[in-house]
Amino acid sequence: MRDFSQDHRWLSINTATIRKSRGVEQPLTDIIEACVQRGIRAISPWRDQVAAAGLPAISKLVKAHGLELSGYCRGGMFPATDAAGLKAARDDNRRAVDEACELNATCLVLVVGALPGALAGQAVHKDIALSRSQVTDGIAELLEYSKANKMPLAIEPLHPMYAADRACINTMEQALDVCDALDPSQTGALGVAVDVYHVWWDPKLEAQIKRAGKERLLAFHVCDWMTPTTHLLEDRGMMGDGVIDIPRIRGWVEAEGFAGYSEVEIFSSGNWWQRASAEVLDTCIARHRSAV
Ligand code: ZN
Repeated sequence: MRDFSQDHRWLSINTATIRKSRGVEQPLTDIIEACVQRGIRAISPWRDQVAAAGLPAISKLVKAHGLELSGYCRGGMFPATDAAGLKAARDDNRRAVDEACELNATCLVLVVGALPGALAGQAVHKDIALSRSQVTDGIAELLEYSKANKMPLAIEPLHPMYAADRACINTMEQALDVCDALDPSQTGALGVAVDVYHVWWDPKLEAQIKRAGKERLLAFHVCDWMTPTTHLLEDRGMMGDGVIDIPRIRGWVEAEGFAGYSEVEIFSSGNWWQRASAEVLDTCIARHRSAV
């Protein structure tokens, strides 16, 4: 297992982590400069942040600084209620692949979606099995396109508390079943993003990380699980402040050969987004050394 205690060369910042500074939305260009100033070598930006700044401007900035992208957030949201909805998802996901290619991302992260309408507050049906089959079909179709463009797809299993509204793939086992079905020869075109926040509790986690192996371990996301958790989406903790044994999980991932970045991904409306982004980044660097 790599020693992270001496430097932060393997730290990546998911740009949602400092989306807000003292509660105020930050432009992606400022976020990038703040990372570069601290010698951070990789980021993982969100599509809305890239769109707000303009893809050409961000692409230029990333290249000028020699920044790597540990991932691009995000594609997915495949389920829909009709053909038009499915097609809209397909088209949008292809654009996400194009953007990820332009930014030379390591992978496009997929948050696959769940019951249509649920995210807006009203699910239009209760058939989660239907959503899961639409997800598999959607990934299968996107995979043709992403393979042709040499952009790996990373399915991110989300904690089961999001099964209704954000992702109906909730365990590593489920994600890997989809990988086995769609990419049986393990070409590296399809894999998983292991986010400790979503999977730390899973009794099968170690075995499923072994099952994934190097070819399918495409991204590793870190933050912490707070007790109590006061918000289902925006109360992620700083590494070391919660109950996740992050070094243990990183050890499992690295034992399979994963040698990429540890990407810090913290959504925290009540705490970290209220602080100055400089303090948050400095804390990320310190905790990357001591708690990851
Ligand atoms: Zn994540």
